[in-house]
Amino acid sequence: MKTVVVTGGAGFIGSFLCEKLLDEGEKVICVDNLFTGQKRNINHLLKNKNFKFIHHDIIDPLFLDDEVIDQIYNLACPASPVHYQKNAVRTTKANTLGVINMLGLAKRHQARIMQFSTSEIYGDPLEHPQKETYRGNVDCRSPRACYEEGKRVAETLFTDYHRQHSLEIKIVRIFNTYGPRMFKDDGRVVSNFVLQALRGEPITIYGDGLQTRSFCYVTDQVDGDYKLMNHPTFTGPVNIGNPNEITIKELAEKIIEMTDSKSKLIYKDLPEGDPTRRKPDISLAKKMLNWEPTTDLETGLQKTIDYFKSIL
Ligand code: NAD
Ligand code: UDP
Ligand code: UDP
Repeated sequence: MKTVVVTGGAGFIGSFLCEKLLDEGEKVICVDNLFTGQKRNINHLLKNKNFKFIHHDIIDPLFLDDEVIDQIYNLACPASPVHYQKNAVRTTKANTLGVINMLGLAKRHQARIMQFSTSEIYGDPLEHPQKETYRGNVDCRSPRACYEEGKRVAETLFTDYHRQHSLEIKIVRIFNTYGPRMFKDDGRVVSNFVLQALRGEPITIYGDGLQTRSFCYVTDQVDGDYKLMNHPTFTGPVNIGNPNEITIKELAEKIIEMTDSKSKLIYKDLPEGDPTRRKPDISLAKKMLNWEPTTDLETGLQKTIDYFKSIL
């Protein structure tokens, strides 16, 4: 049995990852400051003797000297544009000071550590679909920069701890992931559209709705992350996401149809720096991890719609 730290474990992806690790027979220490995470995402895990929750902000050092840590998954960072821009300086701190603390923790325990990086490090991409070799098109002064540049420097720090201290690192670049337990008011497109459709409110399309994204169901995501962590040698960076590209308008229409909603589309201004196209090239993940997503959009959306119905 390994002892595994999951920072950001009370969040959307983190809570599914904690579940997966417990299913695999690991001992899990979930570290979260509950900024965008929710206790209810992990309430059902608290009675498991192999699960421990620590309320902590990774911007502050974390010493776990009573434990022998084998692996650390570092997810602690607000992920939706609304939340990461609310306190942009804190977002940069989580991705710099916070990342250094978790790398320090890994170094002290000689633990393997994985960074949850993002497709946002490619910015508004000029190469399509995005391969891991693409260096990105990021504006270091845009409102998204605290997250995009923060996640870029986090990759730099991981790589330098590997070079300088021989730390065993992993870097996964996550593309838009959705599913149950997304924070309901964090402004991300799937949760916004599903809630608007269920409430019969207008569906808010930003811009002309012709921008694209590619949506990965959360359990596919954590299966890929787990495979990367447990690969003996492959460090990444590797894209984990679903290459099925769809326009935001098509997504809205699909959700209206699936919820049998009377909601109408309304158009609002496109936020500054909003990327026009995004789709992962996942050939590296297929080759190195033998991973590809297996949940189609309809199946994943249905589970997400059922979840939001249950909490409304
Ligand atoms: P989320 O907001 O639900 O989860 C983030 C978790 O981190 C929350 O529980 C939050 O409370 C916690 N957190 C934030 N700052 C913290 C801090 N300083 N100290 C301790 N805990 C802190 O978002 P998510 O979608 O589950 O994202 C998880 C990770 O995956 C993030 O690192 C995000 O950047 C990355 N990611 C997600 C997506 C996506 O589409 N969901 C895409 C790319 C990357
Ligand atoms: N750190 C931590 N937990 C640990 C070990 C280190 O939070 O168990 C923090 C510590 O505060 C330090 C950071 O991680 O600032 C980086 O640690 P490292 O050993 O790399 O650097 P140093 O301590 O030499 O600055
Ligand atoms: N979006 C939208 N309406 C909403 C929320 C988001 O049209 O109510 C758009 C947003 O402008 C972006 C896409 O949907 O083009 C995905 O947005 P999200 O915030 O989910 O993720 P990201 O921009 O980080 O990919």
